[in-house]
Amino acid sequence: MHLPVGTSKGSGHGGGVETRYHLLVTAVERLDRAGARLTEPRRRLAALIDRQPGPFTAADLLEAAESRAAGIGRATVFRTLALLEAEGVIERIDLPTGEHAYVQCAGGHHHHAVCVGCGRVTDLPDLDLAALARRSGYEIVAHRVELFGRCPDCRRS
Ligand SMILES: [Zn+2]
Ligand SMILES: [Zn+2]
Ligand SMILES: [Zn+2]
Repeated sequence: MHLPVGTSKGSGHGGGVETRYHLLVTAVERLDRAGARLTEPRRRLAALIDRQPGPFTAADLLEAAESRAAGIGRATVFRTLALLEAEGVIERIDLPTGEHAYVQCAGGHHHHAVCVGCGRVTDLPDLDLAALARRSGYEIVAHRVELFGRCPDCRRS
C-alpha cells in the first residue's frame, strides 16, 4: 500500500503540533547514535526509509529495495524495522484497512493524526489516555491511538 502522497510535504502549520517530513535527524544518524551495528544493508535500508514521503509498509520498502537493486533481503527488512521500532526511530501505525505502516518519529510518547487524502502524518501530544483509562479500575499497561482524517491542505482542496 502507499497512501497517496501530495505535494504538501514539509509545510508546517501552527496549532502546537508538528508536521513531519522535515526531520533534522535521519534514520541513518539515529541508528548510528543508538550504537546499532550499521551493516551496509541496514544503512541502505535506513537511507530508503529516509526517502519515504509518508507512511510506509515493509512491502513498500521491499519494493523500493528491489527496484533499486539495493541488495537488501526480506529478513534484513523485517529485522531492521524491528530494530528501528525498538530504538524509537520509527513508529508503527495501524491503518483503517487493518494493515500497518511505519512513520519516522521524533521520539517521546505521542500520537499520530494520519491524513487519508495525502498521507501526511502529524504528531499529536499525548493526552494521558492511560490516566483516563485508569478510572475504569484497569491497570493500563499499554495503549495505541491513531487518528485518521483530512489534513488542512486536503480540506481546502
Ligand atoms: Zn510520531
Ligand atoms: Zn492531506
Ligand atoms: Zn498516549
